[in-house]
Amino acid sequence: MHTGLVFTAFLMAGGLAMGCGGAAPPANAPQAPASSAQAAPAASAADNGALPPPTAPEGAKQPVTVTPPAAAGNLFADAVFYIDPAYVAKVESSIKTHAADAALLKKVEAFPTAVWLDSIKAAATVGKTLDSAAAQEKKAGKPVVTVFAVYDLPERDCSAAASNGELTAAKDGEKRYQKEFIDKIAAQIKAHPKQRVIAVVEPDSLPNIATNAGVPKCAAAEGVYKHSIAYAIKTLALPNVALYLDAAHAGWLGWSGNRAKIAKLFSDVLTEAGGPDKIRGFATNVSNYDALKDGDLPKLEPSDPATCELSYVQLLDESLTEAGIVGKAFVVDTSRNGRTGIRTKSGSWCNIKGAGLGERPQASPTPLVDAYFWIKPPGDSDGGSEAAEPGYDKSCGGPDAPDSASHAPHAGVWFSDYFVDLAKNAQPPL
Ligand code: BGC
Repeated sequence: MHTGLVFTAFLMAGGLAMGCGGAAPPANAPQAPASSAQAAPAASAADNGALPPPTAPEGAKQPVTVTPPAAAGNLFADAVFYIDPAYVAKVESSIKTHAADAALLKKVEAFPTAVWLDSIKAAATVGKTLDSAAAQEKKAGKPVVTVFAVYDLPERDCSAAASNGELTAAKDGEKRYQKEFIDKIAAQIKAHPKQRVIAVVEPDSLPNIATNAGVPKCAAAEGVYKHSIAYAIKTLALPNVALYLDAAHAGWLGWSGNRAKIAKLFSDVLTEAGGPDKIRGFATNVSNYDALKDGDLPKLEPSDPATCELSYVQLLDESLTEAGIVGKAFVVDTSRNGRTGIRTKSGSWCNIKGAGLGERPQASPTPLVDAYFWIKPPGDSDGGSEAAEPGYDKSCGGPDAPDSASHAPHAGVWFSDYFVDLAKNAQPPL
C-alpha cells in the first residue's frame, strides 16, 4: 500500500539537487549519451550550477508526478543486516598484514556487505548463508536481512573484460542460467521462508544493453540478457524476497535519453516477468564511485542533469513513472563513494585511487531510498591491473586507466592495500 505522500519530480529534483552542489538544470538540458560505463564524454571545465529559470523553458517537459514506494515493503526497515563471515575473514587477513592499522580496520567488521552469487558454485552456498543469517537473527532477537547480488548472466560484463562470466549463449548458457543458477538459488530461499532476503539483480546488464549496442558482444547478448533477467525476476519473486534491478548510476544513465532507454528496457523485461509488481525497485551505483551529493559530476559531465546519485534516483523515478513503472524504491551502493574528486573522467570505474568507504549501510535514509548499502564488498578488486594476467581490463591498468590503483588482482579477489586505503579514507570517518 502506498503512503498518501505524492510529490512532483520537478519539485523534488530542484530540492535535492541543491544537495548535489547546485540546482539541477531544466528537464530539457542538452543531452549527451554516455556511450558506455567505461567511456564517458571527456571532462570539461564548464559548470552546470546555474539555477533553473523560474518558469519551465520552451519545450520543457511537464513535471511528472512520482509516487513514493510503500513503506511496508522495505525489508531493510526494522531489521539488522547480515554480517558475512567470509568478508570478516578477508578483513582479518588485512589486519594481520597491516598491524599498525588494526584498530581502524577492525571497525569495518561490524558492517554488512552483499554476498555475491557470481557463479553456479557460489549459488550453491545460499542455504548455508541463510542458516548463518538465522543464527544471527536468534542472537539479535530481531529480523536479519541478507543481501545477495545475483551475477552470473550468460555473456556477463559484455562491454568489458574484467568480469566476464562462466556462461555463454553458445554453450547453452541461457538454459544453464535458469536451471543451474536461478532455480538453485530459488530452491534454497524457499527452504528459508522466514528469512528476509534482498536480491540485487545482475549489475551492469540492462544498462549495457541500453547504451552499448555498439559493442558487438552486447548487441548479440540483448535477447539472452532480457529473457534471463525476466526469468530471474519471475523465479525469485518470492514472498520473503525483495528484488532490485540494477540501474547503473548517474554518470552512466543520468541523461534523459539514456533514462528513457533504460526505462523502456525495464518495462519490456518486467512485462515478460509478470509485471512491475514483481520487484521492489532498483539498485544504483553498484560497484561505482558517484557521490550521493556534492560530487564531481557537474565538473566531469556538465551536460548530465543527474549531478549526483541522489538526483539520479529522483530523475530515474520520473523516467520510470513515464514508462509505467510506478512507486518503486531504490538502494544506493555507498561502499566506496565517501570521497569525491578522485577521477579524471566519470567513466573511470576500476579500483579508483583515493576512494574511501561511504555512508554506512542504513535503512530509509532519505525519501525514495530503502537503504544505503555496501553492495560491492569494499576491498574486493574491480579488475586486474596487470596486462599479463587473465581478466586484465585496460580500464584497470595501463595508459587508459590513470585513475586506477596498480597491482590490483582479478575482479572479486581481495585487494588488501586498497582495502586499507578505503578504511583510512572513509567518509564519514570510521
Ligand atoms: C566480480 C565478482 C565479485 C564482485 C564482488 C565483481 O566485479 O566479477 O566476481 O564477486 O565483483 O566483489
